[in-house]
Amino acid sequence: MAEPQSSGRPGAPAAPGFTRTFAEADPADVDRLGGKGSGLARMSQQGLRVPPGYVIGTDACRRYLAEGTLPAGLADEVAARLAELERDSGKTFGAGPTPLLLSVRSGAPVSMPGMMDTVLNLGIGREAAVALGAVTGDARFVADLTARFHAMYAETVLGALDPGEGSDALVAAVEPAEDAGAVYDRIWSACEAALEESDGESVPADPTAQLFGAVEAVFRSWNTRRARTYREFHAIPHDLGTAVVVQSMVFGNLSDDSGSGVVFTRNPASGEPGLFGEYLAHAQGEDVVAGTRTPDPVDRALAPALLDELRRTCADLERDRGDVLDIEFTVERSTLYFLQVRSAKRTPEAAVRIAADFLTEAHVAPAVALRNLSPEQVRQVQRPGFDDDEVARARAGDRLLTTGIGACPGQVSGVLVLDPDRARERADAGEDVILARAVTSPADLHGMIAANGIVTATGGSTSHAAVVARALGTSCVVGASAITVDEAARTLVVGGRTVAEGDEVSLDGAGGELFLGRISTATPAAATGALGSVLAAAAGASGCEVLVRVTLPADVARAREAGASGLVTAVDDVLAATGHLDGLVEELLSDAGVQERFDRVADLVEQELTPLLDAAGDLPVGVRAVDLVADEARELLQQTAVTTRHPELALPLGRPALVEAQLRGLTRAAAAAGRTGGVHLAVRHLSDPAEAAALRALATEVPGAVAVGAYLTSPRAAAGAPDIAACVDVLWVEVRALQSAVFGIPARQLLTSDPLDDYLRRGLLSVDPRTALDPVVRSLLGTVATAQRADLPVGMRLSGEVPEEAAAQLYGLGFRRFAVDVDGSRPLVLALGKAALGD
Ligand code: ADP
Ligand code: MG
Repeated sequence: MAEPQSSGRPGAPAAPGFTRTFAEADPADVDRLGGKGSGLARMSQQGLRVPPGYVIGTDACRRYLAEGTLPAGLADEVAARLAELERDSGKTFGAGPTPLLLSVRSGAPVSMPGMMDTVLNLGIGREAAVALGAVTGDARFVADLTARFHAMYAETVLGALDPGEGSDALVAAVEPAEDAGAVYDRIWSACEAALEESDGESVPADPTAQLFGAVEAVFRSWNTRRARTYREFHAIPHDLGTAVVVQSMVFGNLSDDSGSGVVFTRNPASGEPGLFGEYLAHAQGEDVVAGTRTPDPVDRALAPALLDELRRTCADLERDRGDVLDIEFTVERSTLYFLQVRSAKRTPEAAVRIAADFLTEAHVAPAVALRNLSPEQVRQVQRPGFDDDEVARARAGDRLLTTGIGACPGQVSGVLVLDPDRARERADAGEDVILARAVTSPADLHGMIAANGIVTATGGSTSHAAVVARALGTSCVVGASAITVDEAARTLVVGGRTVAEGDEVSLDGAGGELFLGRISTATPAAATGALGSVLAAAAGASGCEVLVRVTLPADVARAREAGASGLVTAVDDVLAATGHLDGLVEELLSDAGVQERFDRVADLVEQELTPLLDAAGDLPVGVRAVDLVADEARELLQQTAVTTRHPELALPLGRPALVEAQLRGLTRAAAAAGRTGGVHLAVRHLSDPAEAAALRALATEVPGAVAVGAYLTSPRAAAGAPDIAACVDVLWVEVRALQSAVFGIPARQLLTSDPLDDYLRRGLLSVDPRTALDPVVRSLLGTVATAQRADLPVGMRLSGEVPEEAAAQLYGLGFRRFAVDVDGSRPLVLALGKAALGD
């Protein structure tokens, strides 16, 4: 076959209307072209061999979905583009001498791998089939194209059920030398008969009708249930629409020196450098991505010259994009064609490794190296893994069922389930689920989201299951070819053993192993070298201090490991954790208002904080005073009605003696631990300079008192921060408290998904108070930031998961000191580093 040339004339004025050829399109216009269209345009403009084609923009899709018909003018444009493609390729759509066949592919502005639809080999009718037979001399090839086209069109456009392997045998029985016209008739009518029987529909034989049918189907595919589910899960807006890529076909199924493959520029499971991927000779690309045939490693299956070309091109593309890429290619008679390039979905472990490696590669700027590592991924690599001893016991006890291909790391146990609906049901009921399938398809997505682990019998590491699992961060093993999934019997058979649905199994998504029974998990070794170097670079870039919350002396080691530059704690938390809360309550209730000195409180504080300060070594430690008003405190103290009987305790300095007692206790603890500085006591809810002055006065009555600080929680306090700052040594501001106050929503609601998730879904709030900084809060924080002085650090107390965007905003406001829970420390260090590098 003639080699396709890039269509469209470079430098020609951009066409108006809905379509752009790969040569005309502006690759930066991802919103209109979609990711796939943009990538193809860029590769083709870089001179890579891309089959010619054009993109129908997302604007056409949005119009179609709004109006229910193809927008005016689109049909004419598509016809004109077709004539252009024919001219440029020297082929004819639907006819000889050399027929032009097309692929019609969906491609959204954000990556939704495997979520939408593609029709290949479009344009095949009787005339084209006869001509193709003449050009290739291979009637079996014609039969293959015909059957594939029919099946894909029926499934994608008509929504018919997957025809299964019905036509495979028919195709295999065709002799290459047979008459192509007769073969076409035979295959087509067999496919039609099967389709009519099951769905009562038929596939158009007319190439032009096929083209418009497929374009409309791609538009409609934007709103299928599985596409909506995917978008909801990944928080992708529903109103983007998809572009349609119409492209000349190249044929990996033409001959033995043809084939299709998918490669990653680095290993997407481990991050290890070097080309990683798979190739299937004599196959079209869908065979690789569908996971129905298990392909071969690309470095063994591809001819050396092609492998070399592929390697060079991949390295160039990776350098150009500053990211690890996922590249689809097809070889037609030993010529390499590029069909897709996109940012590779990768496991959190791989993302860390890649960022660390990029940091050492001279041609990558630090901002670029960190760009594709998210705080969420850092959080995920802190996940627990199997206990080594238990794994050894499982092996010794012959509980290793089989080993497949590890597609996404993660060590998980759960009940075996063989069906996605039941997987979701059992997961909803609170069970950990391992979903096992012969092969997964987009229809399984809800079950895959619900599962803790996924295992498939067929497919390679670029199959649907593998790609989706990596996107979800769900532990996954594919190609476990020894297992047989019997859906009817609800059993999994492997090596003569039968495991029933509901039995417990364990999965190691890195090593690819499937075990019988549960294996318990141990705390992670998160501080790998790669993560350490990434975080060191991020911390160096931001220059921020990140303090970590601790309660017991044993917490300090983990905080240090997480890179803490200081510690924060709270008197009430410490007393609760050490079993002395009752003592505190007793003291508070002990009759009187008369007992002015709270000596027992001072003693408890000294006794319980000394070991913590000891363990802290020379790390700075911020201690928050007892707070009887906050939600958390109320949980602890509510039964006792302390603040009902003594309402003055609800005010920060309503009982000065209580604060003074803590000051005394902490000062003695600091002395006992040999500290000469770096310890302070901060009181929550101050909002007035007069309160701050009173706190300062209390401190002057305690000889050698530790430093004092204020925790700002109200809008009034934030607005008055510069004046409050004049009387204290340290300021803290609590973002969640401010959000809560500004929204008028109880702070505890900001820590859970219910009921706010539902509230937001109903569109009743334009800003999610848990994840996004409200503009009012942002402006208040701006005022707080102005209170910072060289001798007055202003820290920001954060809780829960801090979204990257929020961290960047806080950094932008000028905050350089933060306090978080231990699991939040590493993700925050990364987010701040990225903000500082300001890619
Ligand atoms: P997805 O968005 O799921 O990756 P694609 O649109 O990339 O779907 O299409 C699926 C497969 O179809 C690709 O992997 C590729 O191998 C094959 N394909 C797409 N376009 C062509 C083409 N022009 N010629 C040959 N094969 C193609
Ligand atoms: Mg693709």
